[in-house]
Amino acid sequence: MTIQVALVEDEELIRTMLKINLEREGYAVTAYEAAEPFLEEIEQRIFDIILMDIMLPGIHGDSALEKLRKNSITTPVLMLTVKQDTGTKVRAFDAGADDYLPKPFNMDELLARVRALIRRSQGEREIPAHHVIIINSRRVNLETRTVETPHGNEKLSDREAELLAYFARNPGKTLNRSDILDEVWGLDVDPTPRTVDNFVVRFRRLFEDDPEHPKYFITVRAAGYRFEK
Ligand code: CA
Repeated sequence: MTIQVALVEDEELIRTMLKINLEREGYAVTAYEAAEPFLEEIEQRIFDIILMDIMLPGIHGDSALEKLRKNSITTPVLMLTVKQDTGTKVRAFDAGADDYLPKPFNMDELLARVRALIRRSQGEREIPAHHVIIINSRRVNLETRTVETPHGNEKLSDREAELLAYFARNPGKTLNRSDILDEVWGLDVDPTPRTVDNFVVRFRRLFEDDPEHPKYFITVRAAGYRFEK
């Protein structure tokens, strides 16, 4: 499974350098120049780790992080900053940072810290470290497996929660039925591609205003499905 990294850094040179090095490690990197577009996107999208600069134009990194934690998003966060005073570090940890690295940093050390954070969070749970996503204004808590629909709360099965998490990790991408089966079902059982279709039918009933004309769980002919945020 490809690790999804969010990178929030306003300095172009550092952003580019980090993206190149993280991608070389095999991670999929989505880069943001500011906290605002990142905060908007993470409501509907799952990342495995977030690298965030503190000094950003607009909302600062530590305030952005506080917002995430208030919204029950527990994805590991590595904060970056040029300020090395104790106050800055304390604020970063108080805001909910898991680790902290002052600039200028050594790239090998940064990559090692990223690996450690990913290892730690993945050891704890099968579902990525991000418990709440919002699809069509309906909140999904992946930990309690609850969906708040306009008609009341609905429970997801473990497998449904895993499939939903897989979609949310790969927005906008066409996912083949066989890839979905490999990723979500693995070698556990022997499902048929039809199994995936049945799950998507349920997701459409839960999340679409008109399940006959889906806007979020899109059928890609002769391939599989695409999740749109
Ligand atoms: Ca900065």
